[in-house]
Amino acid sequence: MGPVIGIDLGTTYSCLAHLSGDQPRVIPNLEGSSTTPSVIGFTSAGETVIGETALRQALTNPEKTLFSVKRLIGRKFLSEEVRKAAARLPYKLAEAPNGDVLIEVGRERITPQEVSAMILGYLKTCAESYFGEDVHDAVITVPAHFGDHQRQATRDAAVIAGLNVLRVINEPTAAGLAFGLGQKKNGKVAVFDLGGGTFDISLLEIHDGIFHVLATNGDSYLGGNDFDQRVVDWLLDEFKKDHAVDLSSDKFALQRVREAAERAKRELSFTSETEINLPFILALPQESIHFRKTITRAILESLTVDLVQKPLPLIERTLEEVRLKPEAIDDVILVGGQTRMPLIRRRVSEFFHKRPNDKVHPDESVALGAAIQSGMLSGELNDIVLLLDVTSLALGIETEFDGYERIIDKNTTIPVRKTRPFTTVDTNQRQVLVHVLQGDAPRASENVSLAKFELVGILPAPAGVPQIDVTFEIDANGQVKVAARDTATGKEQMIAVQPSSGLSKQQVNTLVKKQKEQKDKKAKDAAHEKKRLL
Ligand code: AMP
Repeated sequence: MGPVIGIDLGTTYSCLAHLSGDQPRVIPNLEGSSTTPSVIGFTSAGETVIGETALRQALTNPEKTLFSVKRLIGRKFLSEEVRKAAARLPYKLAEAPNGDVLIEVGRERITPQEVSAMILGYLKTCAESYFGEDVHDAVITVPAHFGDHQRQATRDAAVIAGLNVLRVINEPTAAGLAFGLGQKKNGKVAVFDLGGGTFDISLLEIHDGIFHVLATNGDSYLGGNDFDQRVVDWLLDEFKKDHAVDLSSDKFALQRVREAAERAKRELSFTSETEINLPFILALPQESIHFRKTITRAILESLTVDLVQKPLPLIERTLEEVRLKPEAIDDVILVGGQTRMPLIRRRVSEFFHKRPNDKVHPDESVALGAAIQSGMLSGELNDIVLLLDVTSLALGIETEFDGYERIIDKNTTIPVRKTRPFTTVDTNQRQVLVHVLQGDAPRASENVSLAKFELVGILPAPAGVPQIDVTFEIDANGQVKVAARDTATGKEQMIAVQPSSGLSKQQVNTLVKKQKEQKDKKAKDAAHEKKRLL
């Protein structure tokens, strides 16, 4: 087996790690950095640029610079998450025939899976350059609250990038693994994970190398991007007050304001005030306007006080689910770049009545945990660590009048399997429709539709006599599988599956081929260029 890599595919930044002996280590990218912006740019010369290079050209090419794609992956175009994200993205989105999201790049439309595949492909290249050999196998992390569609879409992205996904693991769980293995501590741990796009809270119990996730919850509407937006809105307002001009319709100016806002927000984690300086932000025929503004930490805090507060009720609920009080938590670890904000650290300290453990690297621990998981799968760490994770979302079926019957509850340890008998309601009924849903809402229509299964070919019999056992399974990747068996004949039922989202196997294969052709062409062009220069 060649090297296995652990990948934290983040909303704003991604990170790569591997296991060296029994210790996880970060793999630097081709520029030598430990994290890579999850950004893809399509230049006017027809080139695709990734990471720092893509970020640098965002200013002049906002419509063809794709970021925060993780907010779109595996989601429906009409979903609230996508609607909220779209309002802030400079690139355009469209609806796919199956209701998924497509991204418009010039005249082309591409899927979020393809964009994520480009980032993953770049990370794979970084790992190959680091090891000096081909890399195929990976463990990839996803937010704990990602549902089946987002997990499957992330997996498809990895396949398109030429990676074999050994396991999909929850980000806070990975951070918990990195913390537990690094510090060799026992006790109850709360992982507070606030990255660029999402928030997750997970509670773990660590005991002599056994990592037991007790509960997990998440908020897909909360991340560093939301904090940036508050600063952007404030700056736009200030500019309007000072110059009576609305900058929000000027794409280029807006991109500059966005970048400056994010930078200022980061700086304010370490200083009490900073200056935003945007020369020539507006070039009018008669004059050019420069924009200079001082923003203090106090202003940032007042602009975002509700965002800082937002995770707390969710943490309370998560603790209640496992009947724990905040004081019962031995260690609090902070993951994700946004947790560097002092006000967040303060609120978390107040909530848990203890200071967060500061030995955890907020940007690297998730990837390090993924590397540890790779060691568990390859057997290298088998006798040191055992991981028991949970599903963050319930799984159930639709019943009459928009009802929802849960079959697997949230926070159930995975893998888990439950079998439920189904029968007919009419005499000689030949088929039964099973609608599988994921979520915790009381009504069927409020949950996410995973698939519809038509159990066909049932032998003619009086109503209620045939028994078809349908088995619902959530595997160790948090992914759902459903199978049906006719108990009378012992035969597997014919199941007509209509997955309600994602790419088909054939589409994935086509994209794998396309990606490979592009990679080969790039390598050929590079070789040609080298020859030309020699
Ligand atoms: P992640 O997804 O974990 O890489 O988190 C990225 C988010 O963390 C982005 O929204 C960044 O703006 C934010 N971030 C990074 N560094 C800081 C910092 N020093 N203070 C506040 N937020 C930060």
